[in-house]
Amino acid sequence: MRRTLVAGNWKLNGSKQDTKDLIEGILGGISEVKNADVAVCPPFVYIPQAAELLASQGASSNISWGAQNCSQYNDGAYTGEVAAPMLKEFGCTYVILGHSERRAIYNETNDDIVQKYIAVQSAGMIPILCVGELLSERESGKTEAVVAEQLDAVLNVTGIEQFKNAVIAYEPVWAIGTGVTATPEQAQDVHAFIRQRLAEKNTAIADKIQILYGGSVKPDNAAELFAKPDIDGGLIGGASLQADSFLGICKAAG
Ligand code: PEP
Repeated sequence: MRRTLVAGNWKLNGSKQDTKDLIEGILGGISEVKNADVAVCPPFVYIPQAAELLASQGASSNISWGAQNCSQYNDGAYTGEVAAPMLKEFGCTYVILGHSERRAIYNETNDDIVQKYIAVQSAGMIPILCVGELLSERESGKTEAVVAEQLDAVLNVTGIEQFKNAVIAYEPVWAIGTGVTATPEQAQDVHAFIRQRLAEKNTAIADKIQILYGGSVKPDNAAELFAKPDIDGGLIGGASLQADSFLGICKAAG
């Protein structure tokens, strides 16, 4: 039985005060979330603050934290970068990789993403590997081909064993930040496709891996999405910035 995971991607938002308010707000309601794992991914500079606030709750909090990106390099002359071992040092459990905004705005390629994936796992953290198609690709019937290419780019380099400690997020690009959500059936179809593709290599790993849905998840559509057999939670952007809406989604997950 897979556990549900709800991860908040704060993107480029917040301040020290916002981080405090948001984490305290989430902690205030988290006891009502019984069966889901919860994670927050603040901007790099707020990770230590979030970590401190969350760690002060000790075992009473089932909330972990992560980053939204990292370098593929561990050290060296890479101005402006943050390395995976640095994130590990601040207690990060997860690193989001291959988000469509990084692919589109920062020209991250599948090759970059696989190197980052290896760096994150080598540092002892769990990559949340984002895959998803553009609207034009869906409309021309290429959804599965695009998702397969993004998945295989990692799988063919790392091998299936490296999916034991990984999370996948299916995020149709047309649903991210748009208010348009994939229907539960549309999302389920792609999640089942991803799981099946992994199962062709190893059924046990495919059965166990958490596949999250991301794209305009809100408290009022989360339960229907999470009820689908291959949807194991969500990667949440906009709705993760308010404690009430994020908690509403976490509660829908269990
Ligand atoms: C995201 O950016 O990962 C995301 C899913 O955003 P939103 O929930 O705002 O669509």
